[in-house]
Amino acid sequence: MKLIMLGAPGSGKGTQAQRIAKDYKIANISTGDIFRDNIKRETPIGQKAKSYIDRGELVPDEVTCAIVTDRLSQEDCKGGYLLDGFPRNLRQAQKLEAFSAPDAVLYLETEDSILLERIGGRRVCRKCMGSFHISSIGDTTVCPVCGGELYRRDDDNPATLSARLDVYHRESAPLAGYYRERGILHTIKGNATQDEVYAAIKRVLDKLQ
Ligand code: AMP
Repeated sequence: MKLIMLGAPGSGKGTQAQRIAKDYKIANISTGDIFRDNIKRETPIGQKAKSYIDRGELVPDEVTCAIVTDRLSQEDCKGGYLLDGFPRNLRQAQKLEAFSAPDAVLYLETEDSILLERIGGRRVCRKCMGSFHISSIGDTTVCPVCGGELYRRDDDNPATLSARLDVYHRESAPLAGYYRERGILHTIKGNATQDEVYAAIKRVLDKLQ
């Protein structure tokens, strides 16, 4: 299965992607995670991406598409993949279609007010990349799943978040229409609990398999 997770920042893409990849045994590729890893290692890609990410803008398509096509060429993607955070605009979608057309797009539809609340209290684990909310974990800095260190993403601050949401509505949300026209869009209400959202996703994927 070749899958795309589409949804705004804070819609729960990353959390659901981790569960799907584990249960359906497909490679989980998060472009945001790849960029953050490159920034941490201070690679040329990381140095290039950082200023865009800090401003809440998209990293240029040439850089992003090259990373994704390279990643999709690796052995573990032969059995299927799940792209979390890519494509984020029409050009990226067209590039992907030419390289490796997706079978299904899972679109997590969530209202902005919920996104702001979720991201405002989001903590991410440096080790397992798990994502948690302070309303359930409190102010601990220890990941409840793997014991890694929890941190607040630099771009999860109110100013950058507002820029990211603008970019999402302007550039990424129109992709729902693009994939609906192709008959592969599956819309899932993202404002339910994680388990309810996952159950809805499973119903879609089990029919596709
Ligand atoms: P995410 O972890 O998916 O929220 O991504 C964090 C940041 O990485 C985004 O705000 C962008 O600056 C950058 N990024 C991630 N995926 C892409 C993409 N497909 N195209 C361009 N920039 C991206």
